[in-house]
Amino acid sequence: MSAAVTETTTDPGTESTSDDQTGRRTLRAGAFGHATALSCRECGHKVDLGPFYACPECFGPLEIVYDFPAVTREEIEAGPRNIWRYKALLPVPTDIESSPNTEPGFTRLLAANNLARELGIEKLWVKDDSTNPTNSFKDRVVACALSAARELGATVFACPSTGNLANAVAAAGARAGIKTVVFIPSNLEHPKQVNSAIFTENLVAVDGNYDDVNKLASEIAGEEEGWAFVNVNVRPYYAEGSKTLGYEIAEQLGWRLPDQIVIPVASGSQLTKVDKAFQELIKLGLVEDKPYKVFGAQATGCNPVATSFKAGVDAIRPVKPDTIAKSLAIGNPADGIYVLDIARRTGGAVEEVTDDEIRAGIVLLARTEGIFTETAGGTTLAVTKKLVETGQLDPTLETVVINTGHGLKTLDAISGQVSAAATIAPTYAAFKATGI
Ligand SMILES: *Cc1c(COP(=O)(O)O)cnc(C)c1O
Ligand SMILES: [Zn+2]
Repeated sequence: MSAAVTETTTDPGTESTSDDQTGRRTLRAGAFGHATALSCRECGHKVDLGPFYACPECFGPLEIVYDFPAVTREEIEAGPRNIWRYKALLPVPTDIESSPNTEPGFTRLLAANNLARELGIEKLWVKDDSTNPTNSFKDRVVACALSAARELGATVFACPSTGNLANAVAAAGARAGIKTVVFIPSNLEHPKQVNSAIFTENLVAVDGNYDDVNKLASEIAGEEEGWAFVNVNVRPYYAEGSKTLGYEIAEQLGWRLPDQIVIPVASGSQLTKVDKAFQELIKLGLVEDKPYKVFGAQATGCNPVATSFKAGVDAIRPVKPDTIAKSLAIGNPADGIYVLDIARRTGGAVEEVTDDEIRAGIVLLARTEGIFTETAGGTTLAVTKKLVETGQLDPTLETVVINTGHGLKTLDAISGQVSAAATIAPTYAAFKATGI
């Protein structure tokens, strides 16, 4: 799994699972469903399906291309209530349900009427991904990466992570019975560390920020045989999992696209893939073609994409993150330039908010809709509010915001904001004295 930029000669038609002469495992037929190749996002160069993520010609990121079958709404609706209902549109085998995994997805799309009133938006939905198996949207991408790791014959399932990804990898690996090793910045929130350590013996805390951890992971991936780093050497497969957020939102709206959608941005992968999902649904005739605007949300303490958007430039200048939104703290986002493209193409924007606004966003969602989100969700909420206030988001159009994680993982960020209203003696008189 170490080769990043070499082309393979694997024959997708063979049934064999034995190693070929190169020592590389031969793919079984249909290992990646209807995926046909990897294609460079920058130059279009094609590479055979395999453990590759960078273009051998220009080092651009590789992306999965497909030859989709004719898929109907009815076929999808008859599928399981998890992401595998969209398996025909993912790089996974047709028998994917029979492999142990955490079965994420098909999370609720909530009509957020109280929040809508508070923000002055006419029709607002919250896509609540905090209810996934390890309480973040990362279970989706990890389920797809696990399938790829399996098909590629990996013996170790690993990741560099800002927290949620490590939780999802550790849990999915435990269920699949594959060794996991997860790497995190050592200053990560304690609950996120425990939520990984409960599933794996191999949680490695690295003294450095996420970008340092990511660099270390790339180095290990290049040295060690058989390691599938979900967001490094199997990143093209992993990233496709985020498309299911887009598919679900469209299906849950009654096979329609929303007018506007607000999505948090760390590496930018999720935002990019939700747009890809909408485009695919249009091409497949599963939804009507219509304009929609995509908005990205960042924290001011880690705002490289928002900064470039506002400056009107195409390049991303990396930053050193310093924000309570640790799950979004990627200073050098791999898909940042594609987020800029999508926000500009669709008439959206990439906006940023301060840590205080993020805390207020967490409280706002909790008090209006009974959803406890983490700092990433607080960022998305606060950005939505700011987009309305600054006239960038049209409050008369139907809007979806994605809640990507759970507040119990980032308790420290908010515990200073909310507390017991009073501590009293166990008497009626003491209670009356509180004025509640
Ligand atoms: C990872 C993560 C994101 C952002 O994901 P990218 O695809 O890297 O942009 C958003 N929210 C939460 C809670 C996350 O863990
Ligand atoms: Zn290329």
